[in-house]
Amino acid sequence: MERSVHAITSLTGLDAAMAKSREARVRLAEAILSGRAIAPGDVAILNTVLKAILDAPRRGGRAQLETGQGRSIDFDLTFETRSLEQDLVFCTRGEAALIDLLAAREPGFAAETAAGIEALGGRRWRCLLADRDGTLLDYCGRYASSVQPAWNAVFLARFCREKTERAIMLTSGPLENGGLPSVTTLPPGTMDLAASKGREWLTRDGTRGAVPLPPAAAARLDELAERLAALLARPDYAVFSRIGSGFQRKHGELTIARQDAFGSVDAGESARFLDAVRKLVGEIDPTEKHLSIEDTGLDIEISLAASGRAFDKGQALDILDAALSLDLARGPILVCGDTAADLSMLRAALDRTPDVQALFVTRSETLAEVVRSLCPEAVCVGAPATLMAILNGLAGR
Ligand SMILES: [Mg+2]
Repeated sequence: MERSVHAITSLTGLDAAMAKSREARVRLAEAILSGRAIAPGDVAILNTVLKAILDAPRRGGRAQLETGQGRSIDFDLTFETRSLEQDLVFCTRGEAALIDLLAAREPGFAAETAAGIEALGGRRWRCLLADRDGTLLDYCGRYASSVQPAWNAVFLARFCREKTERAIMLTSGPLENGGLPSVTTLPPGTMDLAASKGREWLTRDGTRGAVPLPPAAAARLDELAERLAALLARPDYAVFSRIGSGFQRKHGELTIARQDAFGSVDAGESARFLDAVRKLVGEIDPTEKHLSIEDTGLDIEISLAASGRAFDKGQALDILDAALSLDLARGPILVCGDTAADLSMLRAALDRTPDVQALFVTRSETLAEVVRSLCPEAVCVGAPATLMAILNGLAGR
């Protein structure tokens, strides 16, 4: 019998639907990994969410969603739609059908997968260090929507269980308040989750930890966070907490979106918001000594001004190695990333042991060359789906 479907018409509705899909995906991944039959009700949830997204009012191929205060914005929901389609194929028609679907969408998928499996071979790794967005998963227009597909969790968990002693996801997103755990569908205990570029973490046994911040610096950042929250409560700025990266209160850093990857917000409005945030930061740190503000064009990132090198994933590894008893010096280590920001993680691994292999997602020959200069045997592929198919293929060897 056909379920009644309510089209999604607002961002609030989209968030609720994606959260529901996450719960179903957690159960689906768990069932598949443990060889149990999947519950038809969970597949029905994914079907319902997909239909509700496809039925959203459209304008120029994008979904037109209410964002509050009587306004609406056009969103590109490609990530949400595609990942639901992939999960439905995986859960109803099986792994081979999913691989066919991925191969049809990603140029070079089959050849790159076969070459990657061949190059990385049947090794077991002391540790997997993996970036998330753009590496394990496609980029998504909104962090809140970037729920890990069930198939992705199954492939990743298989690799972690079969081929690694430890596995760390190291990402720049936050841990709390809609952070990494709320968009992850892996069974608990599979990976350690390191967020805020590795400044805070949730270990696979459920222990939380964080790099200590100087109390005065933490208080300053807290004050800024409160005042930013008040700014975002104003009707004219409320939209910026809902698009793209949204408002992320991280450990030692705040991120607030001023645009998303699809240019959903008017450019003038985005520039006015940037000015307002700069003014606020200036009020809290008039001498500009304590806070540094960086504008990526999409996100405004405010962090504690570092004396010397800005905090990166390489410094994070120094901390995590000790805090999580990773014993990275023992190797071998597999490092997965997709941008120049992940190179510091690769370099820090190489500082500990020469026994490091790199698996990168990039179509940039410049980045691929740097990766190969560090790791001559590095494998570079064109898409996160290809990387995941390689990990899944390796798990079976
Ligand atoms: Mg990335």
